[in-house]
Amino acid sequence: MKTILFTILTFLVASSASFAQKSFHKNKVIAHRGAWKAQALPQNSLASLKEAVRLGCEGSEFDVWMTSDGVLVVNHDADFEGMEIETSTYKDLLTIKHENGEKLSTVEEYLKAGKKQKGTKLIFEIKPSKISVARSIEVAEKSVLAVKKMKAQKWVDYITFSYEGGLKAIEMDPEANVAYLTGDKTPAELKEAGFFGFDYNINLLKKNPQWIKEAKALGLTVNAWTVNSAEDLIWLLDQEPDFITTDEPELLFNIIKDRQ
Ligand code: MG
Repeated sequence: MKTILFTILTFLVASSASFAQKSFHKNKVIAHRGAWKAQALPQNSLASLKEAVRLGCEGSEFDVWMTSDGVLVVNHDADFEGMEIETSTYKDLLTIKHENGEKLSTVEEYLKAGKKQKGTKLIFEIKPSKISVARSIEVAEKSVLAVKKMKAQKWVDYITFSYEGGLKAIEMDPEANVAYLTGDKTPAELKEAGFFGFDYNINLLKKNPQWIKEAKALGLTVNAWTVNSAEDLIWLLDQEPDFITTDEPELLFNIIKDRQ
């Protein structure tokens, strides 16, 4: 009897935990390529997304490329374990696995997994094509179509180094949040072009801290990559950014907690 009661109780606690989070976290912590480092998980794997969700990150970032036969897949580098993504078919890429045994995720599979919860946003990086700007624009177009098809708009914010790709994403979904990564545009230029914010290299922001104030005055969001040292995390927290992209989400959570 005791065992049955315990089982029922465990089930109820687990159920309430999974349904308890009804709105996205607001804590600035964006896990870069998922939360992979502390647990030695493959970057951009579903396991690293789940870990970011488990930690309660505000967002989990991931990178998207297009295969030679037009399938959007999730991986950081231009190659997946040595196989070039843009010049390989999706079928060929399935012959290789992540170190934890996972296959390469398609964007649809990744979004489906991300939509199972509602605490952590999915920070969708549209990777610029190494082949052409036209292909970068195509990747952006297909990305927004995939997010719409999966009804994942509420979960997704976009980031990209491709200015043209970013403009395409904004054109495809004017309601979408699209931030620019390259660092070669002023906040005023981004605002004018319809971007939601910037997500610039931390060293660039340290050299141009006025951009943070300018962006805020224009109503743009401020994010930086990839902020990993305690010193940089504290410097950026002092600037009151909207988000911080880090390989060290656990460290950032601890620093935030210590400052409260
Ligand atoms: Mg990225």
